[in-house]
Amino acid sequence: MTIVDLRSDTVTRPTSAMRAAMAAAEVGDDVYGEDPTVNRLQARAAEIFQREAALFVPTGCMGNLLAIMGWTQRSNEVICEQRAHVNLYELASMSAVAGVMPRTVPAPSGILTWELIEPLIRETIYYDSQTALVTLENTHNMHGGTVYPTAVAEDVCERAHAAGLRVHLDGARIFNAAVALGKSVADITRKFDSVMFCLSKGLGAPVGSLLVGSHDFIKQAHIRRKMLGGGMRQVGVLAAAGLIALEESPKHLVLDHENAQHLAQGLAAIKGIALDPARVVTNIVIFEVRTTGRTAPEICEQLAAKKVLCSATDQYSVRMVTHCDMDRAGIDVALAAMAQVLAEKAPAAAAR
Ligand SMILES: *Cc1c(COP(=O)(O)O)cnc(C)c1O
Repeated sequence: MTIVDLRSDTVTRPTSAMRAAMAAAEVGDDVYGEDPTVNRLQARAAEIFQREAALFVPTGCMGNLLAIMGWTQRSNEVICEQRAHVNLYELASMSAVAGVMPRTVPAPSGILTWELIEPLIRETIYYDSQTALVTLENTHNMHGGTVYPTAVAEDVCERAHAAGLRVHLDGARIFNAAVALGKSVADITRKFDSVMFCLSKGLGAPVGSLLVGSHDFIKQAHIRRKMLGGGMRQVGVLAAAGLIALEESPKHLVLDHENAQHLAQGLAAIKGIALDPARVVTNIVIFEVRTTGRTAPEICEQLAAKKVLCSATDQYSVRMVTHCDMDRAGIDVALAAMAQVLAEKAPAAAAR
């Protein structure tokens, strides 16, 4: 029996077209700026996002950190949603490396509005750390792949700019958001000062993310990437896979979203699971299991024994993510396994 891996859209493996492109890639030393495939990927990313420049980075975390370093001074504050990736899952690098403080607020569905942001802006007093940057996340991972209405994101950008702040977008899954909105990534990111997006998530590339923005911003990020140890040599082998991901994968994301919707509806029909399928609009499904008599880690463990992998996002919530290596049949296997697990007797409550 094959494993149904719904832990993340990072588990995808490169397609045979990607493997072939990697084997055939023209390469050079990218620290000298001489890798033609990297240069092509960066130019194409800038073109797609209608920006002046782009920089290939090994990870989304590095892309976000470079943006934070680019837009802040040490001791500044960065406003972000409480469950933002930059706040929870990046080793506190904004503090540990960039020397800034996250200033967080919980937001319904993870969607920050100006009404939530404005009260967090620090006064101009010499002993107050000063707010420099707002970071939004679209889609919002830990709120179940939620999508910013473009008007809300643009309103945040405009008012932040009027207040003298920069706005960075953690767009790890911005292509999923664009597909859900039926708009281009350029259209929905136009007002941000910088955007990071991942090739290695739903787009299915093995490695890599891009940071896009102005010439000046990317020039600074390029220097800092080297400082962080991210100067890569014949990295065109990775960029070649990234180019295919960038050109070909966005049109398939709609299938992941349909599969997530199918998954959500199936889960919602299982007794004990609390989930509103209408809230699932991209490829991430997060649901509550409080009334099943089990914790989320227990359910994940029982599913794993049936070769269905997913993750607990807290004590009573579980996350499943659809992706290009997961078809409808796999989703049905997962649903059957979940129904079976919950039909079995719950483990002894004393164990908790
Ligand atoms: C995965 C992810 C990142 C970071 O990507 P890595 O390539 O794993 O470093 C950043 N933000 C969000 C929302 C993500 O889901």
